[in-house]
Amino acid sequence: MQKLIEAWSGEAVVARYDRAAQAWMFIAIHDTTLGAAMGGCRMKVYGSPEDALRDAMRLAEGMTCKWATVGFDLGGGKSVLAVPRRLEGAEREGLLRRFGRLIDSLRGAYACGPDLGTTPEDMAVIAQETAHVHGGTRQGETADPGPYTALGVWAGIRAAVRHTFGSNELTGRSVLIEGVGDVGRPLARLLHDSGARILVSDIEAERAGAMASEVGGEVVAAQDVYNTPCDVYAPCAVGATLNAETIPALRCRIVAGSANNQLSRPEDAEQLYARGILYAPDYVINAGGATALPLLGRGEQTEAQIRDRIAGFERALEEIFSEAAAGNESPLHAAARRVERVLEARRRERWPER
Ligand code: NAD
Repeated sequence: MQKLIEAWSGEAVVARYDRAAQAWMFIAIHDTTLGAAMGGCRMKVYGSPEDALRDAMRLAEGMTCKWATVGFDLGGGKSVLAVPRRLEGAEREGLLRRFGRLIDSLRGAYACGPDLGTTPEDMAVIAQETAHVHGGTRQGETADPGPYTALGVWAGIRAAVRHTFGSNELTGRSVLIEGVGDVGRPLARLLHDSGARILVSDIEAERAGAMASEVGGEVVAAQDVYNTPCDVYAPCAVGATLNAETIPALRCRIVAGSANNQLSRPEDAEQLYARGILYAPDYVINAGGATALPLLGRGEQTEAQIRDRIAGFERALEEIFSEAAAGNESPLHAAARRVERVLEARRRERWPER
């Protein structure tokens, strides 16, 4: 763990071993140039506490990029609850409440929300101990980020389609959605309403079948996803589906989906670029849920205003694609520069004497 912390570019790590649940709690705070850290809480069984800490650090860095891209005054942070097995009932509630007290002790330095393995209901439990949580309220109400994330992906697909084909019109464009869960389902509906031809794939065959019938789409078997011809491949299941094996097989023009860490290595962005496939950087296109939850929590904006803000990702991605095209490079580089520009401008403002 010492080596991990020494090598990390982030600011701070909070680690606590919870004896009662035999679980590790990690809070990674990556960069607070823009404001206090905020990011989801992942609950998962890991091979070792080091794996859990590494995950928290990597995800926290992604949140720094996400907040800078979508223009929120928030810093990059993420937490991980590394549990020995899936926890239910009182055991789960106990861990979440103790975790809520740990967050509260940081007095706002980090606020959490739902992520893989945690639900809006879990956030409502944490909210009983701290105000520094989004996606569940003290009254026990919950908000599902999935439809907001789907809206951002839909907007990003429009930007990518415009960049590639000259118009953001989706009628007749084919989109293969891999994973029809909390994001994939509302995304399929939005795309269907926009006239797109939908192809769906899911390791849960029944889910794929039900979604395909609802939107009049086709089911693609999991093993055929990467070599099925389509305009847009939308990874909405797991990370690292873009790798040395899959990229040469792809028969799409665009990759634009919600999954986190879609590239197995950053160099995969170059492979996509070399193949003429436009890649929408994941931390930009999948920021809809992260955008909505704090706004819903503050209660200052209407649903329509929140949706407008997320629909604005279309413009942000268009700018990223244009900058990348002008520099003959992958959009991943243009997105990273955008993040650095935002952080550097704020550093100059906050610490002019630096
Ligand atoms: P989910 O768990 O609700 O749905 C995932 C779906 O993918 C499930 O239907 C599952 O059966 C399917 N799946 C799993 N492995 C698969 C595989 N190998 N091939 C095909 N299908 C597979 O998850 P979600 O909330 O819809 O999130 C989807 C992705 O988007 C995740 O990577 C998540 O980290 C990311 N993401 C989600 C949100 C959000 O608001 N929910 C926000 C940002 C990023």
